[in-house]
Amino acid sequence: MVHSKLNKESILNKLQELVGPDFASNKSEDLFIYSQDPGASIPRNVDFIVMPKSIKEIQQILHFANKYKVNIIPMGGGLTLSGLTIPVKGGIVLDLKRMDRIININETSRYALIEAGVTTGRLKAYLEEKYPNLQASIPDAPPSATVTGNTLIHGSGFLSQKYGNHGDMINGLEVVLPNGELCRIGSCAVSEYWFTRGPIPDLIGLFTSSFGTMGIVTKLSIKLYPKPKIRDLVVGMFDDLKIIPNLVSRLTQSELLEDILLAIQDKPNWMKGYIFVLGFININSEEELNSKTRALKKIYHDVKGRHIKIPSEMKNFFLEKPIFYAATSDFRKGGGFEYVGAMMPLEKIPEVIMKGSSISSKHGIIPTMGCRVIGKAHNILFFISYAFNRADPKDIQNARSALKETNKAVLEMGGIPWKAELHAQKLILEKMDPTYKKLFKSIHDALDPNGIMNPGNWEIL
Ligand SMILES: Cc1cc2nc3c(=O)[nH]c(=O)nc-3n(C[C@H](O)[C@H](O)[C@H](O)COP(=O)(O)OP(=O)(O)OC[C@H]3O[C@@H](n4cnc5c(N)ncnc54)[C@H](O)[C@@H]3O)c2cc1C
Repeated sequence: MVHSKLNKESILNKLQELVGPDFASNKSEDLFIYSQDPGASIPRNVDFIVMPKSIKEIQQILHFANKYKVNIIPMGGGLTLSGLTIPVKGGIVLDLKRMDRIININETSRYALIEAGVTTGRLKAYLEEKYPNLQASIPDAPPSATVTGNTLIHGSGFLSQKYGNHGDMINGLEVVLPNGELCRIGSCAVSEYWFTRGPIPDLIGLFTSSFGTMGIVTKLSIKLYPKPKIRDLVVGMFDDLKIIPNLVSRLTQSELLEDILLAIQDKPNWMKGYIFVLGFININSEEELNSKTRALKKIYHDVKGRHIKIPSEMKNFFLEKPIFYAATSDFRKGGGFEYVGAMMPLEKIPEVIMKGSSISSKHGIIPTMGCRVIGKAHNILFFISYAFNRADPKDIQNARSALKETNKAVLEMGGIPWKAELHAQKLILEKMDPTYKKLFKSIHDALDPNGIMNPGNWEIL
């Protein structure tokens, strides 16, 4: 429900007046897709969808929303799988896809200044065409995921082992605050260059993983990196969980790998009982490939694993895009899947694998897990994926209960659920230092006194 003094028709008229009749709607056929996401969340009610094209339009929408107390839910691609853009308390979904300009690529200081609606697929294609020596760290999400939506939730991609999660790659933001004021954060608050976050108090963290509750990001500067000539893949196979922390430490210490992914899954049958390490390397020549492969083989053997040669077709496939997550959806009729992504300390990986396997088996779901090493193993993004049949309500419910159990287990092990859905947010808040909670709430309430920004998320009563 919209909590407003105006009736729905008046709200629609106003929104259409602000953005044009084609870009605001409350027709059920337009709202349907916004009421759910590809994960296991229960669909929820959306009252309006609006697609602004400019900052001015966003500011006017926010003035209107504050005046009449209508909720606003900012959205990029809507692909988190954890329902973060489905309104909890109704309201207007503000879809940013029309704000899709790539404003500037600074080749020397290596950053891209983009509008909030630019997708990861578009930025990647643009750089490949116009700046072949530069790359951004792209997630394995569908290409319609936005760069802004992904970085704002601390996403990660194929450069995250080297350079950290995508939240760390933000240089600056332009934000429409909940009261409609426009604010620049980072070096862009002082300089025309969007090249760094400091050296002034760093407020970017207010907008990361706050799930649209603090404002609407309209522009973002993201770091770019030199692009190697050739990428290759060296795969290892291990049968003892306990060696993983040591293995990952050795691999990151060696600085041989750009990206490190681990896969642990019971299907196809030949993968059962093993941990597979996908090590991506940068090389400039055949000679370099041979020497790096030799060095990696030695590390694999030292920790009682082995190097495996994979067919070139399969290798190219993984080099294009590792797809563990998407592949899991094929294991069950109906094609649904959602995972608990958890930020875990490296030493907990053997335990989380055991726990994930046991929760999967308990729910009759084929164990499918994996992780990406972030920033030289400062953090591990571990995922435990549950497939379900979208056409079978009981099966979806089963996956939901596995997800809930996993969130709880992750927190008990000292990890933190990533892009946490509502249930996980509540569990996190229960465990959170009370003074941190108080600080967070007072900042939030000062910015959004009417509580219109994606309410229900990070709700501290
Ligand atoms: C098959 C598959 C594979 C995936 N692999 C990866 C992966 O490798 N790495 C990874 O990081 N993720 C992955 N994901 C998860 C997810 O899809 C991505 O993180 C995705 O990039 C999120 O971006 P989005 O544009 O869909 O964000 P949205 O879902 O639109 O938004 C995310 C959050 O940010 C808020 N938000 C969005 N835009 C704004 C804005 N402009 N201002 C303020 N708040 C805003 C929203 O309210 C929401 O709370 C995967 C998902 C799938 C389905």
